[in-house]
Amino acid sequence: MPLIDELRSKIAATVRENEPMAAHTTYRIGGPAEYYFESTCAEDTVRAVQTAKGLGLPIFVFGGGSNMLVADSGVKGLVLRLAARNYRVDGTAVIADSGIPIGFLGMRSVEAGLEGLDWAIGLPGTVGGAVRGNAGMFGGEVKDVLESARVLKDGVEQVLTNDQCAFSYRNSVFKTDGGYIILSATFRLRPNADSAALKEKIRHNLTVKRDKQPIEYACAGCVFTNWKPESPEDVESLRRTLDLNKDEEIPLTAAGTVPAGWIIDRAQLKGLKVGHAWVSDKHANFFVHDGEARADDMVALMATVKTKIRNMTKGVVSLVEEIEYVGF
Ligand SMILES: Cc1cc2nc3c(=O)[nH]c(=O)nc-3n(C[C@H](O)[C@H](O)[C@H](O)COP(=O)(O)OP(=O)(O)OC[C@H]3O[C@@H](n4cnc5c(N)ncnc54)[C@H](O)[C@@H]3O)c2cc1C
Repeated sequence: MPLIDELRSKIAATVRENEPMAAHTTYRIGGPAEYYFESTCAEDTVRAVQTAKGLGLPIFVFGGGSNMLVADSGVKGLVLRLAARNYRVDGTAVIADSGIPIGFLGMRSVEAGLEGLDWAIGLPGTVGGAVRGNAGMFGGEVKDVLESARVLKDGVEQVLTNDQCAFSYRNSVFKTDGGYIILSATFRLRPNADSAALKEKIRHNLTVKRDKQPIEYACAGCVFTNWKPESPEDVESLRRTLDLNKDEEIPLTAAGTVPAGWIIDRAQLKGLKVGHAWVSDKHANFFVHDGEARADDMVALMATVKTKIRNMTKGVVSLVEEIEYVGF
């Protein structure tokens, strides 16, 4: 029996073949998934994973496609989009399937009189993607509000506590150990004390996001993670190599990192173009394109920026991708 027929009979009739991934990523880039399935409940996910394993097919799971770059040649094996979208509010707990857009969940939690996930309003992607990458915005982060995550590992369902998720800046056990599939998450929020002030904060955040990020273009958020200096000397080396004014303050985030976008900007790389892709003029850590770019343009642009920054800073700064390369 052809493999596609076997997958359809064992998983669901809706399994697709040669599905263009450009249709499922915010970059609007990416070749075909050999086999593609959208699972809308945990049972579907378990069945799809077991079937693919039984047939020796590699599996790639994703959610909103807002933090990845898919190769022009596509992805081999079964690409599983986690699209289960149920949630419920129980007191101050919000329990959500991994396929729910995190921004939507933030909005619903505010409507339910809760705060703690309000920072996520306007953040692209799903609960699963946000938990895996410990996504954050406007001073909030998943790790501050996640109580537990229900996951699938080696075919077995288990619940991980916040500690077991080993969150750190844009990182978690789900990133360091690729074997987990996040099925759902429980967030512990707090009653909203002042709803007018919260609404104002959300309005302000959305305005900042619109003004500072090139969301009018296809993009996938920050390309690189912020740079963590290992010592005060590193910061001084950065000042020297980028030829900064003695008085110019180097911005440090609460986590002690220097924003990668600031470094790329100070290195005067805004507008740098490779093929149809370029470094945004609005936000130097966003790489955008005109709708015609291939993944290869984006990869070449990322490599060029990395090399230029490493050379300019005499090896002090090595930028690390926040974006996930898929199918390369
Ligand atoms: C305009 C724009 C602005 C952005 N701003 C921010 C920002 O301010 N802060 C920030 O942190 N991010 C930001 N991002 C990046 C992105 O929104 C987040 O990283 C988001 O959390 C990714 O979620 P996703 O569902 O789209 O993940 P995907 O892109 O679908 O997947 C990313 C990775 O997570 C894995 N994954 C996804 N779901 C699961 C799951 N259920 N189980 C296991 N692994 C999974 C995938 O395998 C992949 O490796 C921005 C993106 C865009 C486009």
